Amino acid sequence: MQESLRLILDIQELDMKMIRLMRVRRQRQDDLQQIDSLRKELHQQLGEKEKEIVELKKNSDLLEQKIADCNAKIRKLEGQQSSIKKVDEFNAITQEMTSAERERIALEQKVSDLVDKRIAEEELLEKIKDSLKTSEASTKSLEHEIQASIELINQEGAGLKEERDVIAAKASPELLHIYERLLRNKKDRVVVAIENRTCSGCHIALTAQHENLVRKGENIVFCEHCSRIHYWQESEIVEGTSAASKRRRRRVAST
Ligand SMILES: [Zn+2]
Repeated sequence: MQESLRLILDIQELDMKMIRLMRVRRQRQDDLQQIDSLRKELHQQLGEKEKEIVELKKNSDLLEQKIADCNAKIRKLEGQQSSIKKVDEFNAITQEMTSAERERIALEQKVSDLVDKRIAEEELLEKIKDSLKTSEASTKSLEHEIQASIELINQEGAGLKEERDVIAAKASPELLHIYERLLRNKKDRVVVAIENRTCSGCHIALTAQHENLVRKGENIVFCEHCSRIHYWQESEIVEGTSAASKRRRRRVAST
């Protein structure tokens, strides 16, 4: 195999590791995001509950004020009634008092409903606060764990990049450029071996002529189906040994 391809293969292995590493890092970052949005959601629920409770309190205060107004009205009517002598006027005031009392009873019922509702909401608020406290304690340590693992991933990534830079400096710039463009498209191995006269990238059968070209290793040969770069694996493993060259000669003769 061409030396230039061998370098690209080494780079490719590092890139594959890097791709896996970045995938793991993305997952970890998603985990962090999820924890954060859960916390935000709980805080939002808490804020909404608190607002609701304030609103309920305001409404019941308003009704309490109306009840006080009713009571004042009733007291005033009582005062008026005591000085009235005419029966029809007396009756009219009695009627007014009855309706004011009815109004007061209705208001008191409303206030009582509001207070019940507020107590229920306050209990809910306590529950939200509790769950926020528990989740905050447990997620804190989880977050630290995740952040530490991201830090490790970053270190490992920096190491891989360093290693890659050294090899890339030795590689043919044109070939490296082609390889990188292919890698960007496929996000997978783009320099692949021929196995059983088949592209090990797209698994489509190749012609004998194509295989020969790759085996010669004089030029860069692309898969006509998936555009990956092909290399001849056998020559990599046993290159230079007599068994390999004998086998190669036999194979060439038979094709
Ligand atoms: Zn292919």
